[in-house]
Amino acid sequence: MLERGIREKARGLGFSACRYTHAEPPGAAAHFRDWLRRGYQGGMSYLERTAPKRCDPRLVLDSVQSLVLVSLDYAAPERTGAGLRLEGEHSGAGRPSWTGYVAAYARYRDYHQIMGEKLQALADFLCVQAGPKIRALWYVDTGPLLERDLAQRAGLGFAGKHTNLIRPDAGNYFFLGAILTNARLTPDVPERSRCGRCERCLAACPTGAIRAPYVLDARRCLSYLTIEWKGAIPEEYRTCLGTRIFGCDDCLTVCPWNRFARESQVLGEQARSDLRAPDLVDLLRLGEGDFRVRFGHTPLARLKRWGLLRNVCVALGNVADERVLPLLAETMRGAEPLVAEHARWAIRQIESRRSR
Ligand code: SF4
Ligand code: SF4
Repeated sequence: MLERGIREKARGLGFSACRYTHAEPPGAAAHFRDWLRRGYQGGMSYLERTAPKRCDPRLVLDSVQSLVLVSLDYAAPERTGAGLRLEGEHSGAGRPSWTGYVAAYARYRDYHQIMGEKLQALADFLCVQAGPKIRALWYVDTGPLLERDLAQRAGLGFAGKHTNLIRPDAGNYFFLGAILTNARLTPDVPERSRCGRCERCLAACPTGAIRAPYVLDARRCLSYLTIEWKGAIPEEYRTCLGTRIFGCDDCLTVCPWNRFARESQVLGEQARSDLRAPDLVDLLRLGEGDFRVRFGHTPLARLKRWGLLRNVCVALGNVADERVLPLLAETMRGAEPLVAEHARWAIRQIESRRSR
């Protein structure tokens, strides 16, 4: 049976789950359009541009009949069992004070590369098994799809109130990939919401970015502001950033479903130990070439050097150690205007604490 064969192949490739759904528009399309109307996507204008496709997979691949949704776990050992052990890690508690916080998913070689290789292998397998006229197109985060909602319809997990997908058997630390195909695959049974009365993620969010259950205002989200946003970080959110320099895990970390999180079997070999607690001063000294060498194959490449320096300046302002003042002053004089403005802010922060 084709479905069983694909699932076994997916397991062999290291995917932790593999489910199927049909290609009809996802039920959450209306919710997505309403979210766009409210402007919660912030500067991610590509979401508006691709909205018609996102709301109907048949516009992405005209002959599509089915979607294959797969997950790849990324939990490191300390994230399995209970997230509470991780509290305060980005505020510097229990860590050397001059180190930055990088989101858990980004502490590996770029997952687009890792998932891409595996999705290509799975798509090739599907085409060979299903026959000569079968096509398959894969995406990992990059395609115009509402993957999370399609994955819920495929029974792979359910959308939590923090708006990320949760697998009842594994929590929320996993990447999601999708294959569109014109092969007919028997759909799996959809998963239902299982948050119940819990609202821990809403309470944990430092900026109130989860405006209501299942509604994320990206403009307030520290993950968006440190990764996607290309301008100045709004001053009202800078102190909330703490030492985060790439992403934020708070809403994910507090989710009680993570008691079922399992250590990643595949990504361990791809871990970048230098991203667990990078030294902020080292980062601020990175030249353009050093940045490419060090981060070229990691998710941080997306930031570009100026984006990383912008975030590092804010983090150093929050660490507020006077010893970094000369380096910040040097950055302020030598960097592009956006970074210089963040260095100036950091200096003001440190000096204002000194005078208290
Ligand atoms: S990633 Fe951080 S800032 Fe964004 S919604 Fe979650 S807790 Fe809030
Ligand atoms: S923390 Fe609670 S409300 Fe938030 S996603 Fe997890 S189970 Fe749902």
